[in-house]
Amino acid sequence: MSDAARPLLSVNNIEVIYDHVILVLKGVSLQVPEGGIVALLGANGAGKSTTLKAISGLLRTERGEVTKGSIELLGAPIHRGGPAEVVRHGIVQVMEGRHVFEHLTVEENLLTGAYTQRNGRSLKRDLDLVYGYFPRLAERRSSQAGYISGGEQQMVAIGRALMARPKLMLLDEPSMGLAPMLVAEIYEIVARLNRDHKVAVLLAEQNATMALRAAQYAYVMENGRRRQALQAPQAVAVVISKEGAEGLCAGRRAKAWALRAPASPAQPDGGRFGRGAGPPSEVS
Ligand code: ATP
Repeated sequence: MSDAARPLLSVNNIEVIYDHVILVLKGVSLQVPEGGIVALLGANGAGKSTTLKAISGLLRTERGEVTKGSIELLGAPIHRGGPAEVVRHGIVQVMEGRHVFEHLTVEENLLTGAYTQRNGRSLKRDLDLVYGYFPRLAERRSSQAGYISGGEQQMVAIGRALMARPKLMLLDEPSMGLAPMLVAEIYEIVARLNRDHKVAVLLAEQNATMALRAAQYAYVMENGRRRQALQAPQAVAVVISKEGAEGLCAGRRAKAWALRAPASPAQPDGGRFGRGAGPPSEVS
């Protein structure tokens, strides 16, 4: 395949099993182009975090394993390496739940993201870059991270990922638990990072409204009736796009499902996928 046509990230038909027995993903495929923003949507438990962890290598820390398929960065397989190797390849995950080192200061937290960089001068430049995107963190640089607000902690988590100079950032539910204004601010910064620094983003979200605004296209994960039929939880990725369905089996219906989710006055939950908002029953 020519470089022009080759995606940055390609997840090819992967299967993921936890604890050697719990089948969670089956036949999941997706692609992220260089410099693109791609969303991964779905309800609680659909398998979004598992997909991101499979890519970043963090699955292993939870006794999970990619048992079938492959994950490639610019055509080279990366699914057999550990998380540190994946970071060295330029892929960094920002975990769900704003993980920060609570007893370290904001700046110390940011510096932990740069452990692959050794040059003092570039560290200073990277810190300045992060503070340029998040001026609030510059003001709080000496504060203990455990005592800053949830929104600021999310900024620390994203800033720390930036310190590794990623080609691809895996963002897991950046909107979770944040006030709408902060969510908008975070999304605006992600869009700027993508625009100005060409950082590609794979974004797992329940907040379809925000994700579909930011992304060039989205994948919907669902764990509908197949779960029962195979007696194991599993998720199926269905590709959709804002312009038109490019779907696999149930693409058009999946698109309708995803596009129904954005907020409207009748949807006070901001277009979140909820347990009751699953795919139409025909999708199986
Ligand atoms: P959420 O938004 O709630 O995080 P999600 O779409 O990210 O949902 P996952 O967290 O990937 O979904 O979970 C997918 C399925 O895998 C769920 O059924 C979950 O219970 C199961 N699962 C997740 N982590 C583990 C684990 N470490 N061991 C066993 N099963 C797990």
